[in-house]
Amino acid sequence: MAQQDTDQPVNDESNESTASGEFIVDTEDCEARELAHRERGTSRPITVVGNPVLHKECKDVTEFDEKLAQLIDDMFASQRTAEGVGLAANQIGVDLKVFVYDCPDDEGVRHVGHVVNPVLDELPADRRILDDSNEGCLSVPTAYAALARPDYAVVRGQDMHGNPIAIEGTGYFARCLQHETDHLNGYLYIDRLSKRDRKDALRQMAEGTPRYPVVAND
Ligand code: ZN
Repeated sequence: MAQQDTDQPVNDESNESTASGEFIVDTEDCEARELAHRERGTSRPITVVGNPVLHKECKDVTEFDEKLAQLIDDMFASQRTAEGVGLAANQIGVDLKVFVYDCPDDEGVRHVGHVVNPVLDELPADRRILDDSNEGCLSVPTAYAALARPDYAVVRGQDMHGNPIAIEGTGYFARCLQHETDHLNGYLYIDRLSKRDRKDALRQMAEGTPRYPVVAND
């Protein structure tokens, strides 16, 4: 997911963990963990809307090996180059269910992590509070559109070693978890827009120039 196009509040002091045992802690040592990944990784160009790899469901990961670890490192490197807050494997052309994130929540707390084979929890009705904020995507460069999504999300999947994990997000980070899971199921956020808003986003993309390397479509 692309960074917000508005100023993001930054508040590193409020970095207290509220995670219960059920959810991973992804708010500690963020700087060191993100740096270690991207230093081992190689940045790759980003696929854009129209590339078939973005428009079909990715394959489940079944091998939790060195290649998967390298993919995750490359994704962190690519995410940093493109200044993204989340990146799915098919956005660097890899047809596997993995995403990485480096994303602030609405309190300005930074979350860094990865998840393999993610599935979103169905939310009970009382947790489905829609937040109608702007959203952007590295694969739809320079475009933004308002999109209503629940302001709370839980993703379950595995870590790079195959251990089961669950990630909890609120606000902008909840949006990111939903956006990246959508990618791996073959959907872009513009697929959730009205016809008119989708057309407008594609027009913004056509008129803009990405600030990072992209894969040209045939
Ligand atoms: Zn995206």
